[in-house]
Amino acid sequence: MKRSLGGLAVLTAAAVAAGLILKRRGSPDPARRNPEGRKPHIVVAGAGFGGISALQELSARISPDEADITLVDQNNYHLFTPLLYQVATGGADSLNVTYPLRRFCAIRGIRFVCSRIYGVNPMDKVITTAAGQMTFDYLLLGLGSQTNYFGMPEVEERSYSLKSIPDANQLHRQIVRNFELAAQTRDINERRQLLTFIVVGGGATGIELTGSLHELVQHNLVRYYPEINEDDVRISLVEASDHVLPGIHERIGEMALERFEEIGIDICLNRRVAGIRERSVITRDEERIPGDVIIWTAGIRPHPITAGLPVEKARDGRLAVDEHLRLPDYPFIFALGDAAASLDPDTGEPLPPNAAVAVQEGANAGANLARLVRGEPILPFTYKPMGELIALGRLKAAAELGPFVFDGLPAWLVWRVVYLTKLMGARNRAGLVLDWVASLFAQRTIVDTSNPAEE
Ligand SMILES: Cc1cc2nc3c(=O)[nH]c(=O)nc-3n(C[C@H](O)[C@H](O)[C@H](O)COP(=O)(O)OP(=O)(O)OC[C@H]3O[C@@H](n4cnc5c(N)ncnc54)[C@H](O)[C@@H]3O)c2cc1C
Repeated sequence: MKRSLGGLAVLTAAAVAAGLILKRRGSPDPARRNPEGRKPHIVVAGAGFGGISALQELSARISPDEADITLVDQNNYHLFTPLLYQVATGGADSLNVTYPLRRFCAIRGIRFVCSRIYGVNPMDKVITTAAGQMTFDYLLLGLGSQTNYFGMPEVEERSYSLKSIPDANQLHRQIVRNFELAAQTRDINERRQLLTFIVVGGGATGIELTGSLHELVQHNLVRYYPEINEDDVRISLVEASDHVLPGIHERIGEMALERFEEIGIDICLNRRVAGIRERSVITRDEERIPGDVIIWTAGIRPHPITAGLPVEKARDGRLAVDEHLRLPDYPFIFALGDAAASLDPDTGEPLPPNAAVAVQEGANAGANLARLVRGEPILPFTYKPMGELIALGRLKAAAELGPFVFDGLPAWLVWRVVYLTKLMGARNRAGLVLDWVASLFAQRTIVDTSNPAEE
């Protein structure tokens, strides 16, 4: 009896200690549980820059006892979009710019559902996915955006976009295939037509892709195709306004144009594309710019799911959010990244849709969700600009870091180091370094494994 009493005392002491420990870690107050007494269910829709950053912050702050967390994405990987253009131009393997979400979630005790989301019902707190319906207490919307073709279906049909791994692979395949076809034809005009490439859009993606395409063509492909002369290849950059890289330091845009002039890119400013016909881009002024492979990077528009939500929107169609990144009518829904138009407190203008903004918004929303679970006050979002880095092809880049704007090799080295540190996973980083070293020695990927002869 004495022994069992002693045991009870030890058990009680252990239970009290455990309770104290739980309390210190911030165990959920039952009052904060939902009406059924369950732990709150947090659903993160989209494993892009915003969603991943939110989950990193959230899972570091609360324990699995405090909330159930589910991540839903149509792919089972996170895509590092800033390096997608390198996949398209044979400079990086797609496996090195993607990170497995199963690994990400397993480490953090997060449930992962690989499924396409078809709709969000904010009133009933339900999302509809291909795998069924899912209820939530809090929802983080980070579904990104889609390519904007400005209502020109034939442009959508006849151009290549660059938003996903399949897009990048398809574009890479077409570039290589056109070289193979060009090597076979004896018709010089047809050969030149096959070797004309047009990038539409002078934003960051268009500029980086143009520089990298030039490197692929002139430092790799041309070497291995004795039938093709480097003068047979033409790369054009078509932009609607009179400058490139809008929203970035003006000097960086100038540096990009100076560099492109130097390497022989055909720069077409003030050309608004009105359509694609007869293997050419047609501008609004009826000018015809020949191009066999036309790549469309001219803008983005809201994701269809966010566009279809019956809530307040900003001028550009992104979701209006309050200073805590929540939908004003549904404060249990946070919107992040390209889906949200959060305002810059200094200018009152919506922040640009880019990865840096999405990551910082994700961190704020993740931390605030943890605070909500614990009944603590939440904090407003403030954006801290981190500078700009734009790659300009072989061994060249332009950078704005603090008060400094510079280009050339130093900017290129900074670009490489920064992107390498931002990439998720040591394996990916090691693989990417190998890809980059290979690129320096004209070893970009130039195979087309789809076997076009069989098609
Ligand atoms: C080619 C390219 C290059 C870029 N380069 C840069 C750069 O250098 N620097 C920079 O700052 N920004 C860059 N950006 C912009 C940047 O990628 C975006 O601003 C950023 O990814 C937005 O983050 P997000 O979390 O809102 O969405 P995303 O990162 O786009 O993620 C959205 C996620 O939602 C998932 N998803 C979408 N629809 C569904 C659905 N129906 N069901 C389930 N899941 C779905 C997607 O699979 C994806 O994982 C680039 C974009 C592209 C396309």
